[in-house]
Amino acid sequence: MQKILNYIDGQLVPPISAQYLDNYNPATGEVYSFVPDSDERDVAAAVSAAEKAFSDWSVTPAEQRSRILMRISELIDKNLDQLALAESIDQGKPVSLARTVDISRASSNFHFFATGILHFASEAHVMENRAVNYTVRAPMGVVGCISPWNLPLYLFTWKIAPALAAGNCVVAKPSEITPMTAYLLSDICKEAGLPAGVLNIVHGLGPKVGDAISKHPKITAISFTGGTKTGAEIARIAAPMFKKLSLELGGKNPNIIFADCHYDEMLETSVRSSFSNQGEICLCGSRMLVERSIYDRFLNDFVERVKSLKVGDPLSEDTHQGAIVSKQHMEKILHYIDLAKKEGGKIRCGGDVVKLSGRCQNGWFIAPTVIDGLSYDCRTNQEEIFGPVVTLMPFDSEEQAMTIANSTSYGLASIVWTQDLTRAHRVANLLKTGIVWINCWMLRDLRTPFGGVKNSGVGREGGWEALRFFTEAKNVCVKL
Ligand code: NDP
Repeated sequence: MQKILNYIDGQLVPPISAQYLDNYNPATGEVYSFVPDSDERDVAAAVSAAEKAFSDWSVTPAEQRSRILMRISELIDKNLDQLALAESIDQGKPVSLARTVDISRASSNFHFFATGILHFASEAHVMENRAVNYTVRAPMGVVGCISPWNLPLYLFTWKIAPALAAGNCVVAKPSEITPMTAYLLSDICKEAGLPAGVLNIVHGLGPKVGDAISKHPKITAISFTGGTKTGAEIARIAAPMFKKLSLELGGKNPNIIFADCHYDEMLETSVRSSFSNQGEICLCGSRMLVERSIYDRFLNDFVERVKSLKVGDPLSEDTHQGAIVSKQHMEKILHYIDLAKKEGGKIRCGGDVVKLSGRCQNGWFIAPTVIDGLSYDCRTNQEEIFGPVVTLMPFDSEEQAMTIANSTSYGLASIVWTQDLTRAHRVANLLKTGIVWINCWMLRDLRTPFGGVKNSGVGREGGWEALRFFTEAKNVCVKL
C-alpha cells in the first residue's frame, strides 16, 4: 500500500519515528494509504531546512519567485485530473467538484500570488517639508501554515502561495485526514524547481505536528484554518510568544431570503450553498431564514429539490453528494440530527445514513437533511454542524431577520436574497459577518480581504492583506 512521505529540505522522506497512520477512503470505509505519524523532530528538521533556505529565497528577485510559483500553477493545471481524483478519494467529495473548485482554485491561488508579488508596493508618507517616511516590507522568516480537511489543496495553497510569494520559507501541515494532494504537491514543487527547504510539508496529527509548529520558537507567524476550538488552542500557545496569527475558523452562516428575491435563481443557488461538498464548506449557509409570506412555498420547493440530489459514489460524474470525510465526523453529524429531533425539530427530508451498494457499501454517507420547527437560539441553530444539514426558520420583519442572523457566536459569511437595492445595502451593513454575498454565493475575487469576525477568526487573508500578513513592516523616517 502507498506510503505518503514528508517533504523536507527538497526530499521526500519518511517520518523519523518510522510510524504511519491509516488513511481512509471515506467512500469505501477502507484504508488505502498510510500517512507519516510525524512529531516534533520532523518539525525541527523542517524548520532547520527552512531557516537554511531563507537566506537565499528572501533575496531571490520577485520576478524569479513569481516564475517558479507560476510554474507550480501550470503543473497543477497539467495534473488537474490526477489531483481531482486523489482529492475525491481522500476526502469523499464528488470528483467533478474537486476538479472545478478545489484543484482549479489551488492553481488560481499560485497564479494570483505569483502575479500579485510583482505589483506589491510599499507606502511612502511625506510630512510636507519636514520629513519623508517610507515603509519597508520584508519577509518574516520561517512561517507555519496549518490547514483543514474540507478543501484540502485549495486551503493549503491559499496559505502557502502568499507566504512563499512574499519571500518566506514555510513549514506546512495538511490535515492528516486528507494528506494526498499535499503529498502530490511536493512532487510538483520539485518539478517546478522550487529550491530545497523553501517549502516543507510535515504530515501527521494536529496535537503532535500542529502543536510542534505552534510551539517552535523559530516560527514567526502562523496561518491557521480549522475549527474554533483548535484556533483558540493555537492562540493560547502562540500569543505569549508574540507570533503573528491569522485564524480562519468555524461558521454558522445565515442564508436570508426575502420574498422579493429572484426566486428561481435563489432556489437553485440555495441548494448549492447548503449542500456543496456535503455541507462541509465553512462558507455554506446552514441556517435558512425565509420571509414568512413565501415560507411554505419555499419549504416545498426546496425539499423537493434536495430530495432529487443524488448521494453516490464520489467517482461517478453524476453524483451530487459524496461521502462524509470520516466515520467520526459522520457520527458527530448524526448526533446533531438526533439533538435537533430532541429540541423539537421536524425532519423534512434526509435525517439518516444512506447505504449504498457495491464498491461504496461500507462508505460513510448521510442524506441531505432539511429541518424546521426549531427556535433560533437552540443548540442546533447555534453550533456548527459542518455537514449536509440545514435548518429553516421563518421571519416576519427585516429587524427580526437581523436578530436571528446575528445571534450566534460565529461571524464568517452571510447570504442575502432580495431585489431591493436599498435593503441589500442596509442589511449588508447590519450583518456581523466578514463576508456578505448578495444574490450569489462563493463568488470569490482573490483581491478582497477574506475572513470572519467574532469566533470565526482574526486577521484577513486574500489579496494584499495576505501579502501584508506575511511581511514585517518597518517605517523609516528621514528628516528633510
Ligand atoms: P481542526 O481544527 O480539527 O483541524 C484543522 C487543522 O489543525 C488540521 O490540520 C488539524 O490536524 C490541526 N490541528 C488539530 N489540533 C491541533 C493542535 N492542537 N495544534 C495545531 N494544529 C492542530 O478542523 P477540521 O480539520 O475539522 O476542519 C473543519 C473546521 O474548519 C470547521 O470548523 C470549519 O468551519 C473550519 N474551516 C474554516 C474555514 C475558514 O475559512 N474560516 C475554511 C474551512 C474550514 P488533524 O487533522 O491531524 O487533527
